Amino acid sequence: ILLYLPTRLIAHKPPQTQKNAGVLHQPPHLLLLSLLFPFHRKEGETPTSDQPTSMASTAHPSSLCFSLNSSSSSKGSFSKSILLPSSSIKLGSLSHHSGSDPIGLNVGRVRTAVRMSLTPTESPASSSSGIKMASSSSRAPTTVEVDLGNRSYPIYIGSGLLDQPDLLQRHVHGKSVLVVTNTTVAPLYLDKVVDALTRDNPKVKVETVILPDGEQYKNMETLMKVFDKAIESRLDRRTTFVALGGGVIGDMCGFAAAAFLRGVNFIQIPTTVMAQVDSSVGGKTGINHPLGKNLIGAFYQPQCVLIDTHTLNTLPDRELASGLAEVIKYGLIRDAEFFEWQEKNMNALIARDPAVFAYAIKRSCENKAEVVSLDEKESGLRATLNLGHTFGHAIETGFGYGQWLHGEAVAVGMVMAVDLSLRLGWIDESLAGRVHSILKQAKLPTAPPESMTVKMFKSIMAVDKKVADGVLRLILLKGPLGNCVFTDEYDKEALDETLRAFCKS
Ligand code: NAD
Repeated sequence: ILLYLPTRLIAHKPPQTQKNAGVLHQPPHLLLLSLLFPFHRKEGETPTSDQPTSMASTAHPSSLCFSLNSSSSSKGSFSKSILLPSSSIKLGSLSHHSGSDPIGLNVGRVRTAVRMSLTPTESPASSSSGIKMASSSSRAPTTVEVDLGNRSYPIYIGSGLLDQPDLLQRHVHGKSVLVVTNTTVAPLYLDKVVDALTRDNPKVKVETVILPDGEQYKNMETLMKVFDKAIESRLDRRTTFVALGGGVIGDMCGFAAAAFLRGVNFIQIPTTVMAQVDSSVGGKTGINHPLGKNLIGAFYQPQCVLIDTHTLNTLPDRELASGLAEVIKYGLIRDAEFFEWQEKNMNALIARDPAVFAYAIKRSCENKAEVVSLDEKESGLRATLNLGHTFGHAIETGFGYGQWLHGEAVAVGMVMAVDLSLRLGWIDESLAGRVHSILKQAKLPTAPPESMTVKMFKSIMAVDKKVADGVLRLILLKGPLGNCVFTDEYDKEALDETLRAFCKS
């Protein structure tokens, strides 16, 4: 108690930048606490009862086979990793925790960190319709931790979180904030966010920049508007950028934060399903190039992600369905139990059942957080999150940015990846049928636009980020539900057959 009380009194809002949040920067009494209780949390972070100190994985996944099945995670099961002399990376399937190897240990610790922050009522088994959120009267957010050592950050999930100023303010360390949003989201939520940042907090000055809305504006010209505003407003290195909007705003604001003055803090406030289940988590930021999607960018992690599920109430149905494509993806590549839950609850998701939706967001964030914690810079494992994206990006680029929504293109991409997996004999037909039917249930397309040709697919896919040494690597399903590989070892003739099957010319 003698050690803890002074900690509470003195250590309010310490500067916590990407570089200085480590244990060595703590005052001596905090340091002593850290030594006595290694999992003691830093001030300003979300309380969790178990917080690992470091999670970095150093092994190179190109020589590793990760084995991990989230479906048993509620029982706290973990994995072992096996060294494999292969260019393929296999994922999925449950195995036993091996405490002796570093990768296995990491997987176990990540899982613990994530699980411990959840309320027991949120287990999928707890009710037939799914799950109950933490009561909205208490308004305590569910918190999922992205564990990246001294760059770890919380994802707060809950309804009405924008009415809790402390959640945001604790992550703003300087005196200025730049909120980056767009013409659609600004009228809906900008005032609320400015209020959350400034309420009882007169020292903070908030600037805003409102960008045109749409994927077609995710480019260098629009990015410059953010820099123009930041420079005109004389923002300095202690500024915090806040991304308020969907994935387009999040990706652009994050990239701007990474580049402005060589890096300022930023916070994600995602307001679409796509952004809440995927793009706001993990620090991939960037813009499109006319020749290819997301080709220019940086890995740059936010200080926190604040998901106010209430913002989904204004989201159009088509956008909502688009985000569900990424939810389905997590089930297919690594979380069989989650996929089965989705098959039972897809109608409730489409009907926007709040409790069911809250669970889908939380479980998606857990999956993403875990993968990012293990492979932040996408040397292998993280690439699997791109199931269907190589085909999907070709559709977005070829058909014209903004014509099809990202999730719609990814949905078709997943169908094409599944088709190829089936042709290769890596999955059985029933799994392909289930993928088809869940996408239909989610009101997502399952065939590309008619104007897409084999030639267009091939030429755009040739500049995909997953091309290495001129060879296209793909994420394909292999084995039972929840297993996939990231590989260049597939029959290229089978890829041609898939493309021909989906294109008229
Ligand atoms: P988006 O950002 O274009 O948002 C979709 C539409 O919904 C826009 O018109 C937007 O203004 C509007 N909108 C946003 N919030 C709203 C709300 N609460 N109410 C009403 N309207 C709202 O698209 P998206 O689907 O959110 O994101 C797609 C982008 O995300 C793509 O550029 C994709 O490449 C990127 N992405 C990035 C990652 C990553 O890891 N960084 C992952 C997945 C997708």
